[in-house]
Amino acid sequence: MSNIKLGTLNNGCTYCLSHKVHIRGDGRRAYYRIRIKGKRYYLHRYLWEQKFGEIPKGKILMHTCDNVLCVNIDHLIPGTHKENMADMKSKGRTRNGYSKK
Ligand SMILES: [Zn+2]
Repeated sequence: MSNIKLGTLNNGCTYCLSHKVHIRGDGRRAYYRIRIKGKRYYLHRYLWEQKFGEIPKGKILMHTCDNVLCVNIDHLIPGTHKENMADMKSKGRTRNGYSKK
């Protein structure tokens, strides 16, 4: 098993000290990637599955803290891509002062 070193920020977000960030083709999303027994995983998904079991098919892990590099599994909840978009949109609205609350 790979040696994974984690660190925690003041806001509770966890980041990875031992692995490099993999930047996807679109250049916008970056996640830590690890390789275990020749298989590649995204670190946040791997850690989540270690604790909660397999992520349901078609679901992605959403960051409740909005920090895509965060690998704190307490900040991750499974959701659909659609929910994630809606979530981002609602947060964007909040940022612009159009909070629904
Ligand atoms: Zn976080």
